[in-house]
Amino acid sequence: MSLLINAIESIQVGVEDYLTNEKKRYLSAVRNICAGILLLYKEKLYRLSPPHDKEVLIKKDIKPSYDTEGNVVFVGKGKKTVDVQEIKERFSNLGIKIDSKNFDDLNQLRNDIEHYYTDKSADAVREIIAKSFILIRDFIYEHLDEQPHQLLGEECWKSLLKTAEVYAVEEEACRKSLEQIDWKSQTLRNAYDKIRCPACHSSLIKTDDEGECSASTFLACSSCGEEFDFRDVVEQCLFDSLAGQIYTAMKDGGEAPLSRCPACDHDTYMLDEGHCAICEFELEYLDCNMCGTNLSLDEQCFNGLCSYCQHKWEQMMDE
Ligand SMILES: [Zn+2]
Ligand SMILES: [Zn+2]
Ligand SMILES: [Zn+2]
Repeated sequence: MSLLINAIESIQVGVEDYLTNEKKRYLSAVRNICAGILLLYKEKLYRLSPPHDKEVLIKKDIKPSYDTEGNVVFVGKGKKTVDVQEIKERFSNLGIKIDSKNFDDLNQLRNDIEHYYTDKSADAVREIIAKSFILIRDFIYEHLDEQPHQLLGEECWKSLLKTAEVYAVEEEACRKSLEQIDWKSQTLRNAYDKIRCPACHSSLIKTDDEGECSASTFLACSSCGEEFDFRDVVEQCLFDSLAGQIYTAMKDGGEAPLSRCPACDHDTYMLDEGHCAICEFELEYLDCNMCGTNLSLDEQCFNGLCSYCQHKWEQMMDE
C-alpha cells in the first residue's frame, strides 16, 4: 500500500509545484509527476506479484528458488528495481495496456526539459501535465480499479483536469491549422507531428499558410509567439520522427532513412521519398543501367551505375 500512497503524494506535490506558477518549481513539478506515474505502475506490479514474494515483479533481477513444498518459484533478487523500459516489458508480458505513445512522449519531454530547460519552457511543462493527466486517469481507473478523483483529492484532480482541457483545446486548433497544409508525403506528414518551437520547445505550433508545404512554410508558436519557417525545424522533426528507424539502421546495418543532402547540406534527404525536404533535390539516377538495382545518394557520381557495376566496369577497362 505504501507504493500507492507514495505515488499519489508525488503527483500531488508535483501539481502543487506547478500551481505555484514559479518557473523555478516547474522542473520539480515534472520530476514529481513522472516519478508518481512510475510508482503507480509499480503498485500494479506489486498487486500482480504472487503471495510468496509481493515484490518479485518490481525487482530488476528475478531468480528461481524452491518454496517450502519443493516447488520451483521465482523470487526477486537484490535491491535494484525495474526501470521504465522493464516496466513496459513486464506490462506487455502481462497484457497490461498503457497508452505507450503518450508515455514515450512524456519521457522524451521530461528528458528534453532536464537538458534544455529555459524560462520559456513553461508551456512544455503544461504539455507534460496534460499528457500525464491522461495517463494517470486511465491507469488508476482501468488498472488499479480506483476512482482517480478520490485517490488524488478534489483539488489536485481539478487542476490536472483543467490544465489538460485547456491544453487539448489549443492543441486541436493547432492541429487543424497544420492540416490545411498539403504535406505531400507520408514521411513529412509523420514528421509534422513532431514540430516543436525552437525557442520554448512547445508542441503548440500553428500556421496561417495553406497549400503545398515547402521550406518557407510559415509556422508560429502559439505559446511564446516565436515565428519560424518549416526550414528551421524540418531537420530536427524528421530526425525525431525517424529516430527508431535510424537507430535500427545503425544497429543492424542497412540504409538509414535520412541522408545528408548533397545540394543543401542538411540531413534532410528522405530515402523513401527520393528527395530533400528542404531544397527538393532529387536523385539524377534512380536505377543502375546495368543491373537495375536502386541507386543510393553515394552512387550518383557513377553516371547511372551501381557501385558494384561501376567496379566491374573499371576492372574490365583495366584489362
Ligand atoms: Zn515557443
Ligand atoms: Zn537539400
Ligand atoms: Zn548495377
